[in-house]
Amino acid sequence: MERIKPYKSLGQNFLTDMNIRKKIVDALDIQPDDNIIEIGPGTGALTELILEHDIDYTGIEIDKRAVEIIGKMCAKHKSARVINEDILKTDSEIIKSNTKVVGNLPYYITSSIIFKILEAKEKPITSIFMVQKEVGIRIAGKQNTRDNGILAIAISLLGQSKILFDVSPNCFFPKPKVTSSVIQISFHRELDNFKEVMALVKMAFNQRRKTLSNSISAYLSDIDKSKFTDILGKRAEQLSADDFIDLLNRINAEKNNK
Ligand code: SAM
Repeated sequence: MERIKPYKSLGQNFLTDMNIRKKIVDALDIQPDDNIIEIGPGTGALTELILEHDIDYTGIEIDKRAVEIIGKMCAKHKSARVINEDILKTDSEIIKSNTKVVGNLPYYITSSIIFKILEAKEKPITSIFMVQKEVGIRIAGKQNTRDNGILAIAISLLGQSKILFDVSPNCFFPKPKVTSSVIQISFHRELDNFKEVMALVKMAFNQRRKTLSNSISAYLSDIDKSKFTDILGKRAEQLSADDFIDLLNRINAEKNNK
């Protein structure tokens, strides 16, 4: 593989360990009709193995030097291309129903990338991401734990996530300061009012130590709170994704009855 001088500002920690490279690509379970989108292919640690499958592939990479390297790899395959773009500015319509997304993510924008996918019209079949271990724990955070947070709820509203395996800093060049985890996010339901539910979730978690009667008081100003005593004494982290959907539906129903 060709090498480039890593830019810290772009989160460039290149994967060097062949065993981990293979494990990530295996986790994609590539099938002939898949459309693979790779976020930040860099110098091609995953790309090289993905392209062995000769499937439809698009890499999205911000660094022109890396784009040149990946461009050469793609030139040998008729359904492979690389786009020189900031992933956060990429049109999310690029995701189709046969898309699988993969990436050893630039850690400085992990949450924004995941939110972008959650808000896309079509959802990928699966997403396999390398993230910081701490973020992986938060993403897979369970109700009633301190790890339950905005990102965990956002994912559970539409699907589920799990940690597949951890990756030591020794598997990269340069070595990151933290351990990483490979996670999988898969989607199994549509939610028409996803953004509306997320507005409520964000407000609740912005003051996560307070009970809901305080943290989401802006939602409660013109409703009869006595009908919500079962839930308003709880804190955000005690609620599941379904609890938030249910709460919003109840608030809206109450407002519509007025
Ligand atoms: N996939 C390669 C690997 O595993 O060795 C590189 C991973 S490195 C952690 C993250 C990659 O994301 C880098 O190639 C970096 O240039 C790219 N990147 C950083 N910010 C980006 C952005 N906003 N849009 C697209 N790519 C980005």
